[in-house]
Amino acid sequence: MEERQTAPTVERPAPGPVAALAVADLDRCVHCGLCLNHCPTYRVTRLETESPRGRIHLVRAAADGRIDLGGRFAEHLYLCLMCRACETACPSGVRYGRIAEAARAVLGPPGSPLQRWAARAVFTRLLPVLLDYYQDNLSARSVPYPGLIAAMDALAAAGVKLAICTNKAERFTIPLIDQLGLTPRFASIVGGDTVGVAKPDPAPIRAMIERAGGGRTIFIGDTINDIAGARNAGIPSVAVSFGFLDGPVEDLAADAVIDHFDDLVPLLQSWPT
Ligand code: SF4
Ligand code: SF4
Repeated sequence: MEERQTAPTVERPAPGPVAALAVADLDRCVHCGLCLNHCPTYRVTRLETESPRGRIHLVRAAADGRIDLGGRFAEHLYLCLMCRACETACPSGVRYGRIAEAARAVLGPPGSPLQRWAARAVFTRLLPVLLDYYQDNLSARSVPYPGLIAAMDALAAAGVKLAICTNKAERFTIPLIDQLGLTPRFASIVGGDTVGVAKPDPAPIRAMIERAGGGRTIFIGDTINDIAGARNAGIPSVAVSFGFLDGPVEDLAADAVIDHFDDLVPLLQSWPT
């Protein structure tokens, strides 16, 4: 019998702290996300890593030695257009430009003009192709999480109105919910472009509540934008630990956390009045 050869495991050295990245402005960022809707690269990609807050998070991690300065780190920093629109939007006075300049000084030149052209071409030309594909296959692999339909049934039976506020664009959100046969369950559906800004700005959450007829509201979500958006709108939040998280659910600092939708109705029944 032939013995299969396995590749030797390559031990990569842990990255070390990078003192040149420890810019004081890193500590001013309170992760509120109010800069996100002002950032052109975030508005196109809707990716946290292409947002000012995401890039600040990456530089903080690199400064502390928790991540290395490899390809992805450089890509995120060099896709930034250095327009500084995030600076004027930041209520905490974070001077993002100082952070980005420190990172770029450590990284060195961003590659040849051809490499820069190729990176921009991927960003501007391939993204629309990806989005068209997504639109054609919206519900191909999308199913409600276990326990969600039963929880919605129980809440509706108790007279609770359900509504959606997502950062997904309307052109994807409305047909997706429709294709899943869920539209009649919701009193309102607000997408990431419905009111011109997306979460964590409180405006779309307030629009969702108003369009649903108003009333006491608890927001349920799985991302930092959901929980920060609820906080900015002045309403309590529940984080689900099994969704689109990009870190420990505790870091979201929601008012409560559930591990399964079976836990939602009992939690809401015991919610303080
Ligand atoms: S608005 Fe300012 S404090 Fe808030 S996430 Fe952006 S950079 Fe950080
Ligand atoms: S400077 Fe960079 S991070 Fe800030 S808004 Fe412009 S593209 Fe976004």
